[in-house]
Amino acid sequence: MPFEIPSRYDPRAVEPKILSRWEEKGWVCDPRSGKKPFSIVIPPPNITGRLHMGHALNNTLQDIVIRFKRMDGYEACWFPGTDHAGIATQAVVEMELRKEGKTRKELGREAFLERVWQWKEKYGNEIIQQLKALGCSCDWSRLRFTLDPGLSRAVRTAFVRLYREGLIYRGEYMIHWCPRCETALSDIEVEHEEVDGHLYFVRYPLEEGDFVTVATTRPETMLGDTALAVNPHDERHKHLIGKTAILPVLGRRLPIVAAEEVDPEFGTGVLKITPAHDPVDFQIGKRLGLPAVNIFNPDGTVNEEGGPFAGMDRYEARKAMVERLEAEGLLEKVLPYRHAVGHCHRCHTQIEPRISTQWFVRI
Ligand SMILES: [Zn+2]
Repeated sequence: MPFEIPSRYDPRAVEPKILSRWEEKGWVCDPRSGKKPFSIVIPPPNITGRLHMGHALNNTLQDIVIRFKRMDGYEACWFPGTDHAGIATQAVVEMELRKEGKTRKELGREAFLERVWQWKEKYGNEIIQQLKALGCSCDWSRLRFTLDPGLSRAVRTAFVRLYREGLIYRGEYMIHWCPRCETALSDIEVEHEEVDGHLYFVRYPLEEGDFVTVATTRPETMLGDTALAVNPHDERHKHLIGKTAILPVLGRRLPIVAAEEVDPEFGTGVLKITPAHDPVDFQIGKRLGLPAVNIFNPDGTVNEEGGPFAGMDRYEARKAMVERLEAEGLLEKVLPYRHAVGHCHRCHTQIEPRISTQWFVRI
């Protein structure tokens, strides 16, 4: 009986030995070896937590390529690192704080940053250990973090250079805004989900008398209306173009304009235009030179533009607006309406379209 093979493979008995042998030998690259260079910069994993199966896959693929090149006679260097992943890391650290019943605002900026760095130490190191355990043949002496001074300087240099060349610029644009994270979200960070809402049919008085009915799912955004629009080919509503409606509650005068974007099939075929809080309205408003009235604070409460609703949360404001319209006889009907609403992929709060100053890259 020369060997006793255990009935089950126990990685803890085998792998640490292999790992320490690898660590001793190492894969330190020599730029002066005279061999042809070949390098891969790791797509740095976010320090938002531990690695998952997706990381195991993509790092295995890189490892195969780098080992193949090494065997093929190249000075093959795989540069390892981790990514600070700003907002994503903020979100997970905030989640930790919530468990302790605290918020980042209570903590203050300095103390919060301190917590984020603690997080980085813990998970940044764990991620590196996981990569090592996977057998990734990186040059560990060249480990970097995206907020290291040299890397930060490189980012600033590239940014300033692009700016001077006129390739990046700032401008106002309609973005997805999470009122809880208080940050802009990219298109892929928004999850569209069907929700059971309502379609409110609201009467806007016309200046000349009579009224026109507009359907909306977000009556609180009426506070930011600066026009009404109809499709120029819609025979039912053509006569309205050029007339003026009066915004309920606030009394703002709203020109009735023609816009091809208006879907005659939706609601009554008359659209309220809220350039600061709807992407289509933003485009129409820009083209026709309509003012954009932002009605929300960054946390989703109504700002001073909201008249009697100022200070209310957006959902409170919706309820209050509906009650007010009903009391004034301006609410024609309410229908149940199932529609897709964007949610923040990190905290699942309903996103709010909002105009914001952002950086853009000219492509
Ligand atoms: Zn969020």
